[in-house]
Amino acid sequence: MTMMVAARLHEFGEPMRLDRIPIPEPRPTDVLVEVKACGIVPNLARVVANFFATQTPDRKGMPPLPAIFGLDPTGVIAKVGEQVHSIRPGDRVYVNPARKCGSCRMCRSGEPLDCPNFTFQGYFGRSQEIMKAYPYGGLCQYITAPADALVKLPNNVSFEAAARFGYLGTAYAAMKKLGVGPGQTFLVNGISGMLGLNAAMIALAMGATRILGTGRNVALLNRVKALAPQRIEVFAADDAKKAVADGVDPLVAWAKSMTDGYGVDSVLDCLPPGASAATMMRALYTLRRGGRAASVGVVMETLPINGYWLMTNRIGLQGSVWFTTGEGEEMAAMAAAGTLDVSCLEHRIFPLTEVNEALAGMDNRNGGFTNFIVDPTRAG
Ligand SMILES: [Zn+2]
Repeated sequence: MTMMVAARLHEFGEPMRLDRIPIPEPRPTDVLVEVKACGIVPNLARVVANFFATQTPDRKGMPPLPAIFGLDPTGVIAKVGEQVHSIRPGDRVYVNPARKCGSCRMCRSGEPLDCPNFTFQGYFGRSQEIMKAYPYGGLCQYITAPADALVKLPNNVSFEAAARFGYLGTAYAAMKKLGVGPGQTFLVNGISGMLGLNAAMIALAMGATRILGTGRNVALLNRVKALAPQRIEVFAADDAKKAVADGVDPLVAWAKSMTDGYGVDSVLDCLPPGASAATMMRALYTLRRGGRAASVGVVMETLPINGYWLMTNRIGLQGSVWFTTGEGEEMAAMAAAGTLDVSCLEHRIFPLTEVNEALAGMDNRNGGFTNFIVDPTRAG
């Protein structure tokens, strides 16, 4: 077999087309993966519809067209390059799409996520050269990837569940920076969304004693609480409320009532694009003195942070993007051991022939519980 089917975007704003293209040959340090499932993210629909054209009219950071998108592929190793020794054909893997240059100071220091050329295979990024070297996103039948980007999957983790590793890993990497763990109270701002729900699942796995979560949809919040009623508490936030630091805000008062008046140890902001700075600030004000917050959300407004408040309360604030392949291996080990339970995900699986329908329907979901998958092995 020399040819495969790939969903390719020929022009932004148009549907993807199914094209027959050659199956690539892996370079010496690469592998060829037969894709079994690819997770798709709501933002992909916005990207291919050219939603961001107004911000980047020259499409800076976008891959050359025609492009194969697909951020979270999982599958089986079909072939390995001659310098690949610890991965074998038949191995089940998640392909971490985070690509780095490999030779800059940050890459050589073991900090690939800080590479100035950081690029997502199958999405967008800072380096056109890397996008040309790895032009295969998961919305096709076979992709090449560097051997050091593979997370080996245990047999008890399905390809569909592992296709959620992008969200899970994004939450996990940020939560490691926050020191989430036993004895800690951790608040997830936006707990019922794609990222927030996964943060709750990871917090349970990391042993956080008490997990607080905010959201708007009461039915979804109750579903999140049902994952671990003894450890999870939820708060239906009213968006109209103003952010105030003095505890008058019912959200802050609630968080303090859950923590003997201290405030929470850490906050993870998981708010979606379009959320207001005030909604993020309200969550930051639930922190105790010395508390730490990380943002993996997409609040685009400027935060009104008072430097005096930040200093006197010894607040830490950290941005976080994606996760290392090593962190992916840790998640695979947790899933294998059963400490990370991904069984609450509802997989909504589309054949490759229905990729455009899948993208068009992503706003219709049960919050973070719905897991959108394209399966290139299904002909349709
Ligand atoms: Zn680099």
